[in-house]
Amino acid sequence: MLKLLLASQNPGKLIEMKFILQDLPIEIITPADLGLDLHVEENGQTYASNAALKAKAFMQASGLIALGDDSGLEVDALDGAPGLFSARYAPGPNADDGDRRNFLLKNLLPHPRPWTARFRATVAIAQPNGEIHFSEGVCEGEIIPEERGDGGFGYDPIFCLSDTACTMAELPEEKKNHLSHRARALAKARPVLLKLL
Ligand code: IMP
Repeated sequence: MLKLLLASQNPGKLIEMKFILQDLPIEIITPADLGLDLHVEENGQTYASNAALKAKAFMQASGLIALGDDSGLEVDALDGAPGLFSARYAPGPNADDGDRRNFLLKNLLPHPRPWTARFRATVAIAQPNGEIHFSEGVCEGEIIPEERGDGGFGYDPIFCLSDTACTMAELPEEKKNHLSHRARALAKARPVLLKLL
């Protein structure tokens, strides 16, 4: 069976990517399964270059086809911030997801609502022969000033989807994994994976 290494150490993303890809006849492998603990510096200028950096590093370390994702939240009132810096968007080296949500809300409070925003994800599939394939997914919504729901991860409790009026954290797992930016990017990556079988 085709082995596919998920090039991420983010537990929230790994759970979602495994869920979304579960129906494919592919053996999904995580870095922990291989005892791999790579820290890839995300110094690209785009989601695609960061996704490629991660996919290539894990492909080279394992010899397996690797799938990396880079994602972020773009808030219009903040000119697209936190964007590429979503994972590092709060002062201090020990900031967690809750600190990042609070920092975002603090920065947004002076701005009039609605605080329109979107999640964006780019997926990169790196093959040992050097080929690399990209796909992108976007999910539109709005930031709300109070947290709702306890599913998902990251900014999910304050991101309300345009289509459902629920936050990402209020959605059942299968619904988030059907509608999310990551789900949409992976849906576009499916034909590439199927060709590799
Ligand atoms: P990176 O892709 O590892 O650079 O991290 C992207 C960051 O964006 C995550 O750490 C989260 O803070 C945020 N993010 C990306 N996707 C999601 C999502 O599906 N829900 C909530 N936050 C997300």
